Amino acid sequence: MKQNNDGILYLFKKNKVTFFHGRGSFVKAAEGGYELQVSGAAEETLVAKQVVVATGSNARALAGAPFDEQNILSNDGALRLGAVPKRLGLIGSGVIGLEMGSVWRRLGSDVTVLEGLPTFLGAVDEQIAKEAKKAFDKQGLNIELGVKVGDITHSKKGVSVAYTNAKGEAQTLEVDKLIISIGRVPNTHGLNVEAVGLQLDERGAIVVDDDCRTNLPGVWAVGDVVRGPMLAHKAEEEGVAVAERIRSTRACQLQHHSLGDLHQPRNCLGRSDRATTQSQWSCLQGGHLPVPGQWSGPCAGRHHRHGEVSGRRGHR
Ligand SMILES: Cc1cc2nc3c(=O)[nH]c(=O)nc-3n(C[C@H](O)[C@H](O)[C@H](O)COP(=O)(O)OP(=O)(O)OC[C@H]3O[C@@H](n4cnc5c(N)ncnc54)[C@H](O)[C@@H]3O)c2cc1C
Repeated sequence: MKQNNDGILYLFKKNKVTFFHGRGSFVKAAEGGYELQVSGAAEETLVAKQVVVATGSNARALAGAPFDEQNILSNDGALRLGAVPKRLGLIGSGVIGLEMGSVWRRLGSDVTVLEGLPTFLGAVDEQIAKEAKKAFDKQGLNIELGVKVGDITHSKKGVSVAYTNAKGEAQTLEVDKLIISIGRVPNTHGLNVEAVGLQLDERGAIVVDDDCRTNLPGVWAVGDVVRGPMLAHKAEEEGVAVAERIRSTRACQLQHHSLGDLHQPRNCLGRSDRATTQSQWSCLQGGHLPVPGQWSGPCAGRHHRHGEVSGRRGHR
């Protein structure tokens, strides 16, 4: 991580980007742009003609069970555990939850996943979901679908989750730590958007057009804090496109609908799906199309490198 962070600082320096370490917020519209406050390790007031907001997203909390990052964990807390919990509970079997559950299972935890939907990974390609379920079963994840979670209480001994299973029977899950992974929400906390009238939608995302322009001239927003899939490459491409628009070099148009299609058969469970994306690109460029509904894992160069190819070939 340090190497990565230092690499980015090096790139900033090399490309004459000044980095202020702190939290940024809007102060007001100023002559020639916007006044911004930086508070934290650096305390500064800046005026910028163009502002790009890329503040990401936060884990969604479950009503009645706020994250304390000690016993009830978001994905942040789940990555900071100092020891392997013997019994780990997980609410939500989305990609991030499964990634966390799978990591801790492989480190030795007994992992139970409680999912409200009756189908596993309902939002992804059916064939991938089927293959993924097999892989997680093999790892030893105990996945319960179609549950209804009730009261969550915690004490020094651990966390207790009352729930009703798919048959309608009342159950209690006792665990040492509980990860709640029920989605993410755009993060505009502390940005002081009201000061400048930056428009948010009903989900709290910054409203942007197809070019990532907000309702304010010179203010752009990209990534998880705006509409669209919360994916790293989507955020990155939007950032690049906005930089190009500001410089007006190339007016590149990001096709969100095709981005969605291209990433449909992604395999991001515990591995970087950038590799998948790139390999799908090269498949497309090579005239091979991933067949919708089939597992395209063997296409990923990174998986080959790690000798972790499973599933069946899905290209023509
Ligand atoms: C556990 C996990 C696994 C994931 N796995 C994948 C995956 O396999 N593939 C994939 O494509 N995507 C994955 N994602 C999603 C991906 O991480 C996000 O879509 C991507 O990071 C969004 O980029 P971003 O630039 O919008 O926000 P972020 O990467 O979240 O960056 C936002 C940054 O802004 C900073 N910030 C916030 N508010 C302020 C402020 N007021 N002032 C200054 N700085 C501020 C934050 O500290 C943070 O550094 C995963 C996400 C999680 C949580």
